[in-house]
Amino acid sequence: MKMAAKTIDGKQLAADLRAEIAAGVAALKAEKGVTPGLAVILVGENPASVSYVTAKEKACAEAGMYSREIRMAADTPEEKLLETIAALNADPAIHGILVQLPLPKGYDEKKVIDAIAPEKDVDGFTPINVGRMLIGEQCFLPCTPHGIIKLIEFSGMDIRGKHAVVIGRSNIVGKPVAVLLSRKETNATVTMCHTGTKDIAAFTRTADIVVVAAGRPDTLRGDMLKPGAVVIDVGVNRIPDATRPKGFRLVGDADFASCAEVASAITPVPGGVGPMTITMLLWNTLESARRV
Ligand code: NAP
Repeated sequence: MKMAAKTIDGKQLAADLRAEIAAGVAALKAEKGVTPGLAVILVGENPASVSYVTAKEKACAEAGMYSREIRMAADTPEEKLLETIAALNADPAIHGILVQLPLPKGYDEKKVIDAIAPEKDVDGFTPINVGRMLIGEQCFLPCTPHGIIKLIEFSGMDIRGKHAVVIGRSNIVGKPVAVLLSRKETNATVTMCHTGTKDIAAFTRTADIVVVAAGRPDTLRGDMLKPGAVVIDVGVNRIPDATRPKGFRLVGDADFASCAEVASAITPVPGGVGPMTITMLLWNTLESARRV
């Protein structure tokens, strides 16, 4: 029997949460005189990075937060970048520091991220934060994985006791999503699939939840799903399309049409996971300012 999946509206959930965050910001200002501040460092002029940084600044302003954008030329010495991070670590007006990735060639990305003080690492990318997440200590949860958990909950699915399959094992999406889903609070049983998995469909067909983060269109199709599954499509892929003004369109990693016939709920691309990432960044920045 064909099902018509509900679309999980990431824009709506993001708007709801941003309203909650804006109220939290206003309350913190009124009660403690603290305005949450986010510093965003952009090195070079990668167009995608420029647009992400602009979107982050706009979102900060809308939430009533203070944002400071620091732009640096692509040939800025690494030492200078590290000095800038050290100054922000010590700046009481700044509660969150984000270095927009990827950095241009020649930088040691790991060293740069490690320079961010863990208590201001609102992206949740430093090894200290990742380790704390793994052992269940207080930390900043990484934004995209945290947003994914919120989206599954928003779909109406009670995650506890369910079988979740995560396709992809990157440090920024797949691995942390698997960790978050298997924590006591969510209590899912998790299977991780990757390019070494022999028969992904054999796993996804038994899954109540499928999170696909492979960076490849059509990684997940409807015939790979159990009826009623919830699908979170993290992928963002550009497909050439001469009918579009920009000459391309965005698709996810799931074939939306066939998955929507079998799933009970699915995130669209765009408009699913994307809007949640910046929202959870604001969430962490507010959280950081509250800890002061
Ligand atoms: P990544 O670092 O390239 O990792 C992709 C993972 O998927 C790898 O673990 C890889 O396996 C696995 N994989 C690739 N092709 C596969 C296949 N055919 N079958 C099974 N596994 C496969 O990518 P990422 O950074 O995690 O990002 C994944 C996607 O999410 C990208 O499209 C990215 O643009 C998108 N994304 C979106 C957001 C957002 O806010 N919406 C945020 C982050 C990422 P191996 O480890 O075996 O190579």
